[in-house]
Amino acid sequence: MAVFKCAVCGAVVEARCKPGKCKNCGAEKDKLVKEETLKK
Ligand SMILES: [Zn+2]
Repeated sequence: MAVFKCAVCGAVVEARCKPGKCKNCGAEKDKLVKEETLKK
């Protein structure tokens, strides 16, 4: 699992692969910054 942080609203999204957009504010995926990778 990887953790992506939205640079716009600061929401943290946990996903296996990069989300299409921020589920909180709807920002484009290039606003989502990979923060941490957790290996399963
Ligand atoms: Zn956002």
